[in-house]
Amino acid sequence: MTEIKGLGAASGCARGHAVIFRTGSLSLEKKFVSDTAAEIEAMENGRQKYNETLKKLAEEARVSHGDKSAEIFEAYQEIIQDDVFFGQVKDIILSENVCASYAIEKKRAEVEEAFSVVDDDYLKARAADINNVCRELMSELQGISSGDPFAGAVGDDLIIFAEDLTPSDTVRLDRSRLKGMVTERGGVTSHTVILAKALGIPAVVGCGPMLDRLASGETVLVDGSAGVAVVSPDSKKLAEFEAKSGQAAKMKAVYDECRIKPAATKDGFPVRVNVNSGDKESIATFDAAGCDGVGLFRTEFLYMGHSDYPTEDEQFEVYKDMAVRTAGKELIIRTLDIGGDKQLGYMDLPKESNPFLGYRAIRLCLDRTEMFKTQLRAILRASAFGNVKIMFPMIVSLEELLRAKELVRECMAELEEKGFPFNPDIPVGIMVETPAAVLISDALAKHSDFFSIGSNDLIQYTTATDRMNERVQYLYDSCNVSVLRAVKTVCDNAHANNIEVGICGETASEPRLIPLWCAFGVDELSVAPALVGRTKYIVTQVTKSDIMEKTDKILSSGKISDAKNMLEKILEELGI
Ligand code: PEP
Ligand code: MG
Repeated sequence: MTEIKGLGAASGCARGHAVIFRTGSLSLEKKFVSDTAAEIEAMENGRQKYNETLKKLAEEARVSHGDKSAEIFEAYQEIIQDDVFFGQVKDIILSENVCASYAIEKKRAEVEEAFSVVDDDYLKARAADINNVCRELMSELQGISSGDPFAGAVGDDLIIFAEDLTPSDTVRLDRSRLKGMVTERGGVTSHTVILAKALGIPAVVGCGPMLDRLASGETVLVDGSAGVAVVSPDSKKLAEFEAKSGQAAKMKAVYDECRIKPAATKDGFPVRVNVNSGDKESIATFDAAGCDGVGLFRTEFLYMGHSDYPTEDEQFEVYKDMAVRTAGKELIIRTLDIGGDKQLGYMDLPKESNPFLGYRAIRLCLDRTEMFKTQLRAILRASAFGNVKIMFPMIVSLEELLRAKELVRECMAELEEKGFPFNPDIPVGIMVETPAAVLISDALAKHSDFFSIGSNDLIQYTTATDRMNERVQYLYDSCNVSVLRAVKTVCDNAHANNIEVGICGETASEPRLIPLWCAFGVDELSVAPALVGRTKYIVTQVTKSDIMEKTDKILSSGKISDAKNMLEKILEELGI
């Protein structure tokens, strides 16, 4: 029995037989050429041919799997048609007298490195797309065909194991026989994973080198939620798997039912469960019926995939579309939370040694007021079309909040003059995600219409632990009692000032913490779309008054492990 661990990318459980899919190995050698014009011509022909293939694959995918699957090939087409990228490849061929494959690989590696410092899953996935397109083009140039991954495979319950799968590989697979996907590389938001989700098959990605340890035909179990594949399972594992997949199917049905209903604790305290959104995929798949609203609409994506600042009209169209689609439910738009670690060429941001403590988010916006006001006007205009709220990130002082609100008022006056409609009473709130904001939350609450606790950053700043630094991840702990006490303080100060408080960091959907959030009186939890049902279900299992009796003990435990044990015991008692 071999256990392979990776990232749970598309949920679900599957049992089947392994198919090892190896693509031919590409030559990345630096070959010098005398006829650079011939290399460029070969590359251009290859681009054209691959573009035609993608067009055909998009049409096929649209017919067999719907529009969503076709989008993947359209995104690839955009890359293969990118004359700026391939113009730079041509420059490398000409200036270094090298073959096209080497020049493509050099440019690809440069882009990969530039993207590697960006803390944004969506952009990381686009870097993976560029890798895939370059790989396909190099295969074409070197005459390596990917072929049919299932050629020679027997049976109709196949689990594919590959180094990585391009969407073209995935579409070449016979859907009726494919039961799961496991790859050495790839991130949880790669387009391959999106396709796996669209097809409803579990996927585990980013497992690291494993193909050499496997043989085609072996029995395999894939658990896409846990991010594990078990090859040649023993009878105990098989029995566990059968029990787990039966239980998972049962709970999925329960969660689906909860998702579309309002949630309240057993003793009648309502908790709205919203979704976090703000990348193209979550916007495209947003379903207002499956949540109580949007608790965090991240706007960075509007600024990141572009070569210049997005205009007021461009932003307005996106916000208005979401405002209309949320159909009267709340849409909390967070103003730009960028800077420091996220280098955008056109913004000309300084390199900083402590980017998370540097020139970012509201600090950047209050410094670059024209950019900020462009966004505020776009949000205000969208407020005429739905229940829109404005939220400022990274607040550390009352002055920042007051200045930001002053700019909102200036924008209102400008829009009024131009005759644009907007909601003059638009609620304006803040993210509480710094210890400073926690400690002055009583004062901030007097000038905020709502709070939303950004626990991702609050944990980072409270525990002084870089959320991106793997070496100190053991300290980045949502159950550190300092964090739990901070959340309690914010909830108390919000309620003492009659405003609502939500949580929009990942802890909002952490099962063992949901009962505690209910006891604190959190009004709203904003979670990943796939977790709305489970979060609501847990809320409905909690009796707030019971947990309130236990909070003092949890909050006074010195050790993180003691707090965790108590929280886990509560879950157990609730039967979760
Ligand atoms: C947070 O900090 O909890 C949060 C939701 O914001 P982000 O993850 O975008 O920093
Ligand atoms: Mg944050």
